[in-house]
Amino acid sequence: MRLQTRFFVLSLGLSLIVLAVVALQTSRGVGHRIDAHAEADLHRLVEVARFAVLRAPVTDDAFADELAEAMNVRVSVIDTDGALLGDSWLDEEALSKAENHGRRPEVVAAFRDGMGTDKRSSSTVGQPFTYVARRVDRPGKKPIVVRCALPSNEVQLESDAVTRLVFVTALVAIGLAVALSASAASSIARVVRSLTVTANRMASGDLSVRSGLRGTDELSELGRALDKLATELSAAMEGLRAETDLLSGLLEGMQEGVLVTDRDGNLQLFNRAIREMLLIGSDAIGRPISQAVDKAELRPLFDDARKKGSSVAELDLPGIKPRRVLVHASKLLGTRGGEVAVFFDVTEVRRLESLRRDFVANVSHELRTPVTAVRSAAETLRGAVESDPTSALRFIDMIERNAARLQACIDDLLFLSRIEAKQYNFNQEPVEASTVAAPVIALFRERAAARNVRLMNEANAMHPRVWCDPRALEQILTNLIENAIKYCPDSTVSVRSRIVDGRTRLEVADTGPGISAKQLPRIFERFYRVDPGRSRDQGGTGLGLAIVKHLVEALGGQISVESELGRGTTFLIDLPPVPAVLPSAAASVRPADVDASPAS
Ligand code: ADP
Repeated sequence: MRLQTRFFVLSLGLSLIVLAVVALQTSRGVGHRIDAHAEADLHRLVEVARFAVLRAPVTDDAFADELAEAMNVRVSVIDTDGALLGDSWLDEEALSKAENHGRRPEVVAAFRDGMGTDKRSSSTVGQPFTYVARRVDRPGKKPIVVRCALPSNEVQLESDAVTRLVFVTALVAIGLAVALSASAASSIARVVRSLTVTANRMASGDLSVRSGLRGTDELSELGRALDKLATELSAAMEGLRAETDLLSGLLEGMQEGVLVTDRDGNLQLFNRAIREMLLIGSDAIGRPISQAVDKAELRPLFDDARKKGSSVAELDLPGIKPRRVLVHASKLLGTRGGEVAVFFDVTEVRRLESLRRDFVANVSHELRTPVTAVRSAAETLRGAVESDPTSALRFIDMIERNAARLQACIDDLLFLSRIEAKQYNFNQEPVEASTVAAPVIALFRERAAARNVRLMNEANAMHPRVWCDPRALEQILTNLIENAIKYCPDSTVSVRSRIVDGRTRLEVADTGPGISAKQLPRIFERFYRVDPGRSRDQGGTGLGLAIVKHLVEALGGQISVESELGRGTTFLIDLPPVPAVLPSAAASVRPADVDASPAS
């Protein structure tokens, strides 16, 4: 039942009960009171009648009629024998036939006690009366009784009239009360309905809605409490949202992959890095880890973390970009349960470690050969110095050659490590390639002639200049030209320039034996040689091209190589163009300790 109806029915029910009680009480109370009043009046009137009897010379029926008319009640006069001397309600004839009144209770009581009352239906006139009788003691005469009586139905009529009036008044009042309470119930129901709508909107997430109640009643207070709740809830939600944003921003921004499972081993959360590493989508959320991620090794890792608190493993992840990851899994703290795993991409670290191992092995190998040669030459020299002075000179020569090789190797290694450590400060400026190439070519002219190599400077002085350190470019060209002379006898070697995509590209090309496609990708690796024996014979350290690549990249450029067996090799160098606005202090101070050029 609706609140308004309930209120209405309640107030109507209450009103009807009140009405019933009022009617009952009124009809009873008023009847009694009127009865009591009537009796009291009869007592007063009978007293008056006593005085009238005392003074009256005769007390006959006329006297009774006269008295009754004056007092507006029935008046009877009864003598000691019970004879009715007069009665205002009876005429002469009826009076003569009236039965003896000496046994009437009020008459008996009046003669005995002076006063008597009774209520009963009169057998004489046939209707109910209230009687009050009074003994009148007359000096020198027998006492008589004067009796006043009121018909009870008159009293009842009076009582009914009053009851009716009260009832009608109460009915009108109740009608008004019911109408008022119905209107109050309707206004309360309206407020309750509006509060319900507000609360429902709040519950469905709209925390901007307010009840807008301003009164001082309880419902307004409830509305204000609801508004306050929404304000506080919205502030708390805002704080929560900010925290969630921070957390998700943090997780998404992390390079490390983070993956969280619940206590049942189902995927709960993971970040962008994990998406890329494990190639999983957001539909994986809620699925068991063994189904969501196609990596069997993860399962024991999580089981271990659950049992021991934490576990670590290194895994290989296949894919377009294969990776090696170090995974730390640990139990989540708190009552929530579950595990968190952090994936560190160690691909580069492991690659560098492997490079370092190879490098150490290569360096040891490179150095061991000349050192062994020097030691054995020195030992042999000790014996031969007196016995065979001619061969002693040969050993000294061998020692010198290997020492020079050691020196060249160490110089190249140091130079490379300085470029890598960015200790080589470049002095970049607009450089015209042919100007730099000319002195280098001139320097190699004699050696080239000795190996029947034709050296050409074909760099076009009209091509845009490049943004470069001239000394570094000199070093690059020196290494490349020297290699070409070493490995390409009876050929033509040229330094050229070309415009590619509006920028100047330098090329060092030869018409030598070329390098096989299989070996070409490794040509810039440290200590990589196409023909190790031949390279060593030529005094090569295996570091020349590595130095060239490092220098070009440190200058902000790129180097590549094209080669065809039997047709020759071309090294292509793309250096940055001269910037539109030249930096004011582009030239930085070159440290004195890197002043020495390496020997290639
Ligand atoms: P190296 O000190 O041995 O010359 P580099 O790094 O300069 O070391 O060269 C690596 C290898 O590349 C050389 O051993 C050689 O076999 C090969 N190479 C370099 N330049 C040429 C070229 N112009 N033609 C053919 N092979 C070359």
